Amino acid sequence: MNKQYIFTPGPVPMSKKILKIGSLQLPYFRNEYFSKIVLECKKDLLTLTSAPKGSEVIFMTSSGTGAMEAVIMNLLSKEDNAIVINGGGFGQRFVDICNTHNIPNFDVKINKDDNIKFEEFSSIPANAFIVNAHETTIGKLYNLNKVGQFCKKNKLLNIVDAISSFVSDEINMIKHNIDALIISSNKGLALPPGLGIVVLSPKAVSKLQEINSIYFNFKSYILDVQRGQTPFTPAISIILQLNKRLQELKKQTISKTNKKTKKLANYFRKNIKDLPFEFYVKNMPNAMTTLTPTDGKLASQIIKDFEERYNIILTPSGGDLKEKLIRVSHMGNMNKKYVDVLINALKQYYGKI
Ligand SMILES: *Cc1c(COP(=O)(O)O)cnc(C)c1O
Repeated sequence: MNKQYIFTPGPVPMSKKILKIGSLQLPYFRNEYFSKIVLECKKDLLTLTSAPKGSEVIFMTSSGTGAMEAVIMNLLSKEDNAIVINGGGFGQRFVDICNTHNIPNFDVKINKDDNIKFEEFSSIPANAFIVNAHETTIGKLYNLNKVGQFCKKNKLLNIVDAISSFVSDEINMIKHNIDALIISSNKGLALPPGLGIVVLSPKAVSKLQEINSIYFNFKSYILDVQRGQTPFTPAISIILQLNKRLQELKKQTISKTNKKTKKLANYFRKNIKDLPFEFYVKNMPNAMTTLTPTDGKLASQIIKDFEERYNIILTPSGGDLKEKLIRVSHMGNMNKKYVDVLINALKQYYGKI
């Protein structure tokens, strides 16, 4: 296969070093060697997410949705009431998870350019708040500062899906007052899919309940992680890759990595100004740009042409937005040169060079 340039929000381009680790024979994991790696990953994740003292980390073998569902199962019951911010497919997923597990919820539908109107539900008797920091289906970033302040004032358990924002956009558990932070391996972390990560604040840990599940029971994960183990087979190769990736991120610092992604996103946005596109949402994250064609072309046609002509992989959105949106990710191992490939192809496609 020819080299593909992927701009998809998962998987994202991975570095050579990380790819190399993935090609090696897997080591056995029920031993001190592997425990040490898991404990290092735990420590580094707590540092990089600015988790409050006494926080815990859970490593699950699942994609992000498994971690989302497990968080809801372990932290909420039919006695609770959750406000769910629903601005797209991933907000809807939380609503569906709550409904599946009989968790009372207040489904807050949000238009693409609206901010969260906290006054609309401040009288709801809720005790939990659920939000996707970045709603990846449309490329919209929510204001986590405001969410955190609202949760603090109203004593709500703050559950944040940072799957497509950790590493590329600012995530700080203390500053944003986050109690349960959900991450997965194949977005900003730029690793293969298959590892779900949850960071729980001491408040969230104290709220963990006995649940009707073996595989998703967080209490057993927390018990085992104290000695660097997981109750079931971990995603061994991804944890080895994570170990390396976290070391790199610590060295670069997470704020520099956020800035680097922002710079790339701005570079891309600035350089396509003369092309027939509109930005779909106002409040875009560093992680992604969503474009709407303004010349009547269907998004699906453009996406197909780019794969066939340039080996560039872009993604549409789902449902009603299928023909309206082109999503361009800035996550992962990218630089200006990589983004130039897309910019130049776009200019050529529209006859600008
Ligand atoms: C990718 C993603 C998920 C998880 O989707 P999976 O298909 O389970 O990987 C959840 N939330 C957000 C915001 C995402 O971008």
